[in-house]
Amino acid sequence: MLTGIHVAFVGGDMRQLEVIKRCIQLDASVTLIGFDNLESIFTGATKKPLTCDVLKDVDALVLPMVGTDDHGIVESIFCSKPLQLVEEHADALPQSCVVYTGMAKPYLKALLAKRQIPLVELLDRDDVAIYNSIPTMEGALMMAIQNTDITIHGSQVIVLGLGRVGMSLARALHALGARVRVGAKRPEHIARIYEMGITPFHLSELKQQVTNADIIFNTIPHLILTAEVIAQMPQSTFILDLASKPGGTDFRFAERRGVKALLAPGLPGIVAPKTAGQILANTLSRLIAEQCANREVSA
Ligand code: NAP
Repeated sequence: MLTGIHVAFVGGDMRQLEVIKRCIQLDASVTLIGFDNLESIFTGATKKPLTCDVLKDVDALVLPMVGTDDHGIVESIFCSKPLQLVEEHADALPQSCVVYTGMAKPYLKALLAKRQIPLVELLDRDDVAIYNSIPTMEGALMMAIQNTDITIHGSQVIVLGLGRVGMSLARALHALGARVRVGAKRPEHIARIYEMGITPFHLSELKQQVTNADIIFNTIPHLILTAEVIAQMPQSTFILDLASKPGGTDFRFAERRGVKALLAPGLPGIVAPKTAGQILANTLSRLIAEQCANREVSA
């Protein structure tokens, strides 16, 4: 339970509603900042503007998945006025407060580090990234189906990277009957791909591997689908780049060659906001409860 704990939410999207609902269910005292246009206000939550006063007794401050931009602007689909987290707001937070977000830009990291306020980046956690790979994989399949005129079954598919997303995707594509090859660098990844009954290849062979690819899913956040590699693909290849912006594809060259290439960020929030919200709610509620239990022990 989160009885007696003050959780403030600043901005967010549909995913945040699941987290808010969970905190209320667990009896936290909940303040919503930047939710002016949210029609159905949850019973048990209070809407407030972003002021220093409202932040001064907050135990946990929850920001959206991308905490702030490089100027402290916090995105909220529930508010038409801009929300900006500035120095004075950080000064108002108590030392015992913990700030939670998906991933933080340097602006937010610096703002909190200066005041030694702990910051938790949920997407850095292996458990959250593995759960999140499920809606990501489903969204990637949806986009591949929408952007090709062939079935996934029987198609020549390449997955680049055997991380959290790459593994979920390779397994699902294999189960759907695609002819899957996975490109990786580490010997243990090559061994795992083989163990999964999938064809591995070393990334150094990428140029040779792409010559008959129908669909390429990239999960490597590094320029990997270079002009040199794209030049070897059939023009009908579809590239779906899932890696964080700017992706791992030379999009300019792909367009020039007539190869369709799309960057597809934020799929969990697009295809399954409720599930994506529940994934965050499960982890966040546990972390806030642990934070408060640790505080009581050390008090
Ligand atoms: P991950 O577990 O860290 O996997 C990344 C993979 O890329 C690993 O196999 C890693 O291999 C490989 N890699 C990284 N840098 C490399 C390089 N320079 N050369 C060769 N291989 C390299 O990450 P993830 O959780 O699967 O996520 C993958 C990407 O998708 C991230 O950019 C993440 O932000 C993004 N993502 C996007 C969505 C979406 O909706 N589009 C959703 C979730 C995640 P090593 O371990 O050997 O480095």
